[in-house]
Amino acid sequence: MTGQERSEEKSECVSLSPMREAVPAPPECERVCVFGTGDLGRSLGLRLLQAGYGVVFGSRRPHSSSSLIPHGSQVLGHAAAAQSGHLIFIAVQREHYDFLVPLANQLKGKVLVDLSNNLRKNQYPEANAEYLQSLVPGAEVVKGFNTLSAWSLQKGPSDANRQVYICGESVQAKQAVMAVATKLGFSALDRGFLSVARELEDFPLQLFPQWRLPLYIATGLSAAFFFYLLIRDIIYAYFTQGKDISFRIMVSLANKVCPIVSLIMLSLCYLPGVLASFLQLYRGTKYRRFPDWLDRWMLCRKQLGLLALGFAFLHVLYTLIIPIRYYVRFKATERTVSVIRENRTTEFDTTTAWSGDSYLSLGILGFSLYVLLGITSLPSVSNVLSWREFSFIQSKLGHLTLLLCTAHTYLYGWNKFLSSSTYKWCTPPGYMLCLVLPSVVLLLKLLLITPYTHTQNNTLSVMTALSSRHELLFLCYCTL
Ligand code: NAP
Repeated sequence: MTGQERSEEKSECVSLSPMREAVPAPPECERVCVFGTGDLGRSLGLRLLQAGYGVVFGSRRPHSSSSLIPHGSQVLGHAAAAQSGHLIFIAVQREHYDFLVPLANQLKGKVLVDLSNNLRKNQYPEANAEYLQSLVPGAEVVKGFNTLSAWSLQKGPSDANRQVYICGESVQAKQAVMAVATKLGFSALDRGFLSVARELEDFPLQLFPQWRLPLYIATGLSAAFFFYLLIRDIIYAYFTQGKDISFRIMVSLANKVCPIVSLIMLSLCYLPGVLASFLQLYRGTKYRRFPDWLDRWMLCRKQLGLLALGFAFLHVLYTLIIPIRYYVRFKATERTVSVIRENRTTEFDTTTAWSGDSYLSLGILGFSLYVLLGITSLPSVSNVLSWREFSFIQSKLGHLTLLLCTAHTYLYGWNKFLSSSTYKWCTPPGYMLCLVLPSVVLLLKLLLITPYTHTQNNTLSVMTALSSRHELLFLCYCTL
């Protein structure tokens, strides 16, 4: 630094904290520069100071900066601040990047970290980081830290927010930024070249991307079965018998829709794995990628399963409140009174007792395993399981859950399948419709575990997932 620059820095430097004189930054500490004294700039500056860096802010108004500036930092004009460090974090909105053009000479050879985000996807023709690089071609632009919020930076890294994504053209520049990220307590992941910047800029705009499809399916199925059952149960009774039983919408109908949607969604969880196995057997190789739709389907199986569990849970709650319902109590009393009045006796039916108890017992067992599947899909639990344990639970016990829940539903209607009164307006009851998919999945799975197909599939099965583009955690769901 020339003597003139030194004196310029001295004159532009504003003391913001009385503490700064008392506790000066160690002279040998590495200095980094942050352009912008807004929310993100200040939060990042604070963390950098806490991690032992010397921090110099570059601001339009170094003399009238906010009192919120972290103690121990310096605030200079942009040109002077740019001289003070090799690494410059740009915590300024993209719209204002043109202020950097006149600084092109001072920024030559520096590493510029682009922290910016956009308000919506495809807001600009190119990524902000690429735009920055075009404005300052002599600098090394690295995209990074934009997925962290100012708040999380102030709070410090937590388990849920540890990851920092980095991309850029220069390996050395990325390493320098990753070193800072690591020192701040984050784990940095190099995502490649600057062309990935747009993807990183879209991250903060995402809203539950993996939940979207499962939520659409759940909503669609719930609505479809609700209206189907409304017509079959409530409207049918009104038109054919003149009875108003609309009160049943709240509990009885809901308690039919929930298990139906739950069972279908559980089947949808296991169907893609079975389809993938058959596809591999058909192709005779594991070295070809699955079609995109199958890939996407497999990637959202965890969410499908958790939503299915949610519906099963609602079914359990609705079932538990049956005895306290006014309608049920009224009917039970009425039946008892009529038996007494008519001096009738009723025979104990062992078959009904057996089927009723089996139906309930299979439901309880199925639900317990359902809960186990849900718990083991949580990252905190799955992380402590070995690959074999996880795949045993999600695959073997998962199919057993599907089998138990399907059997539970078959037993529900065991004596009604052939009764013509069940088919109101020639339509089958909802539970019969929902049995189609799980029965198909279980049948296909049975075919896969027959000795011939099992041998063929055995070596392919695990590798199938590897040939797909899935994350490791999702491999377990594949071909199970
Ligand atoms: P902010 O609070 O509005 O601060 C922006 C700063 O930019 C201002 O304080 C100002 O600093 C500087 N600035 C404003 N107009 C300027 C101009 N014409 N020329 C030069 N500098 C100008 O915004 P922020 O929340 O810190 O966000 C800054 C960037 O970080 C944005 O691109 C945002 O997308 C990104 N980001 C923010 C967060 C977050 O949680 N806030 C998270 C991730 C990414 P001076 O007055 O000191 O010049």
